[in-house]
Amino acid sequence: MLYFTVSRSARVSPGTVCDSRSSGTVADYCKGVGTNMTSLVTLACILCACVLVRSEVTVIDLTHTLGPRSEGYPGNPKLNFTNIRRGEGYLGIWQEMNWFSVAEHIGTHFDAPRHFCVDAWKAHEIPIQRLVGPAVVINLTAEAASNIDFGVTNETLIAWENDNVPIPDKAFLFFEFGWARRYPNWHRMFNPRQRGRVQEIHYPGLAHSAVEWLVANRNVHAVGVDTPSPDLGVSKTFIVHRMLCENEVVILENVANLDQMPPYGAMAYGGAVKLRDGSGGPVRLFATVDNSAGVFSFSAVLLTLIICFHLA
Ligand SMILES: [Zn+2]
Repeated sequence: MLYFTVSRSARVSPGTVCDSRSSGTVADYCKGVGTNMTSLVTLACILCACVLVRSEVTVIDLTHTLGPRSEGYPGNPKLNFTNIRRGEGYLGIWQEMNWFSVAEHIGTHFDAPRHFCVDAWKAHEIPIQRLVGPAVVINLTAEAASNIDFGVTNETLIAWENDNVPIPDKAFLFFEFGWARRYPNWHRMFNPRQRGRVQEIHYPGLAHSAVEWLVANRNVHAVGVDTPSPDLGVSKTFIVHRMLCENEVVILENVANLDQMPPYGAMAYGGAVKLRDGSGGPVRLFATVDNSAGVFSFSAVLLTLIICFHLA
């Protein structure tokens, strides 16, 4: 530890000794090593820096590709994608441009609070700070596999917290039901007896008690599901949408790749389209997982100590 301090405070150059701030012991040491110490300390610093730089962040794409096959709630038109130019254009330079129009609520998309609340934020009014937050993923795939109408309750949330961590402030709270594997197969997503019959659709979601507990006890930025809606498919009240919108919570629907996420520890980012007066729209949703925190800092300290002992 002493030598580590020396390497940072004493300015050693070829043929010189440590400056006057060095203690006697340190100065004596420096006189002896001269150029070699400079090189080795530099090497140590480079190695430590390399270890720190190697800290890797994994980026997970939580977005289904937006295209002609994108699906949404009954009543939404399919995406229109029209080519405007493809080939050599001005000055013989190859160029491509397209035009597309898309329903707000198809594919992986966000619901602005305005979607169900008349005085709430429209898409362009959502503060950008609300589109970032620590990600929590509650895996309910097994429950949904055995009960297509499975409803998350307040007890589900409390039990998850007891087994994991408290849902953090400003969280993006995701519920994984295993529905991403069904997307974009409309029949497997909505499970109706007849296509377009809203009265007959089935998929898992949140029960009233879950959203009631959530808005009363936690402060989340967003609630996301891999299904078409956080409300149960059989819901006739849309109570989850209404309560979340009343509390300015952004809703994320048809979320992809939640099976690649850790239960907590990631950061989520919702690049929601800033559509004036929109009630929602496409979102490029992704998350980052920092694999290095702590481990690499420890490695850097350890490496420094090893090199300094080698110098001694
Ligand atoms: Zn929606």
